Amino acid sequence: MKIDTKCIEAGYTPKNGESRMIPIIQSTTFKYDTSEDMGKLFDLEASGYFYTRLQNPTNDMVAAKICAMEGGSAAMLTSSGQAASFFALFNICNAGDHIVASASIYGGTFNLINVTMKKMGVDVTFVNPDDTDENISKAFKENTKVVFGETIGNPSLRVFDIERFANLAHKHGVPLIVDNTFATPINCRPFEFGADIVIHSTTKYMDGHDATVGGVIVDSGRFDWMAHKDKFPGLCTPDESYHGITYAEKFGKEGAFITKCTAQLMRDLGSIPSPMNAYILNLGLESLAVRMKRHCENAQAVAEFLASNDKVSWVSYPSLKGDKYYDLAKKYLPNGSCGVVSFGVKGGRKAAEEFMKHLKLAIIATHVADAHTCVLHPASSTHRQLTEDELKACGVAPEGIRFSCGIEAKEDIIEDIKNALSFI
Ligand SMILES: *Cc1c(COP(=O)(O)O)cnc(C)c1O
Repeated sequence: MKIDTKCIEAGYTPKNGESRMIPIIQSTTFKYDTSEDMGKLFDLEASGYFYTRLQNPTNDMVAAKICAMEGGSAAMLTSSGQAASFFALFNICNAGDHIVASASIYGGTFNLINVTMKKMGVDVTFVNPDDTDENISKAFKENTKVVFGETIGNPSLRVFDIERFANLAHKHGVPLIVDNTFATPINCRPFEFGADIVIHSTTKYMDGHDATVGGVIVDSGRFDWMAHKDKFPGLCTPDESYHGITYAEKFGKEGAFITKCTAQLMRDLGSIPSPMNAYILNLGLESLAVRMKRHCENAQAVAEFLASNDKVSWVSYPSLKGDKYYDLAKKYLPNGSCGVVSFGVKGGRKAAEEFMKHLKLAIIATHVADAHTCVLHPASSTHRQLTEDELKACGVAPEGIRFSCGIEAKEDIIEDIKNALSFI
């Protein structure tokens, strides 16, 4: 099936007389005839549902759809993108371990890794994703367990050279996790370029209607944990909390990562979406291919308009000819990048705020990548906690505006920008 078809058809095939739509199993609980039956589920001896914190059929069907779209082997939904990033990393890293991360990542993920995970004893080295292989290799240590980056950095819009980072990670015997939120599997499938695990904030384009917060983790099923047994004891040695199961042995390359993440992290930390929210996410997924085309078409028009306006000092959009990341975008995002355009206005931070005040259609919102056009000043919102130096490292300019093109008519979006620019 083509990706457009998977958006509609993957993850659930109704049998004779069953509902066409994914059913909402809004139940915490599942009934069994005998304690032995249930015991087998607890021991991971049989698959099935017993408590929604661990697994729920609606959530699993939606996860299976996204898994198919990314070309993965297994997937799980989480209650937010933040939970997806944390679980994916913490499923590999313990206290005493080390992460190599691109500096061009979402502010929330930056804080998660730089502050919260540090408190848990997990160390990090942030690298400039555009640096040379030689310099990036210097960031790896004996205790490095994973590499993390974003296909299209939010909000820097830097395109991550997935293949290069996958090779670097693999050379050091560790997997690459890619946050594919902005590109979505419609525009890029990181597994095709060697990434091992993909996460998304489904809150963005996948939901697409400003309706539900959520996340997903997808495993490619290709990373050979047992080949690097010493590095990954959590996956390659017996889990005492599951009667000595060794995930990588029992569930193989295809199933070990997601099974461990479900059985340990979801069990102990509990960040599941409600089945109702998974259902709403699925509605978004069904139209994702159609919407992404429109988001990209609108953003292309907006980027071209901004680039030709003399009140605008710079425009960053990977699919715009002449953009620093144009060549990488052609490789990784040949059908379009995303609906988000970053730019600066002449007159710096003050002019940026003045411009934003006069927008009417584009709303100021701490959100991005959705049907409604919205706009944000990252330096004073999502990236507010970062120092000037950290902002620079993330690729966030103090005067930068993150403009997220919705799926309205592009003429109306451009008219709104034109009007607001007339005030500065
Ligand atoms: C929003 C976002 C996140 C965090 O997701 P939430 O669903 O808000 O928790 C992570 N990564 C990227 C790229 C994002 O845009």
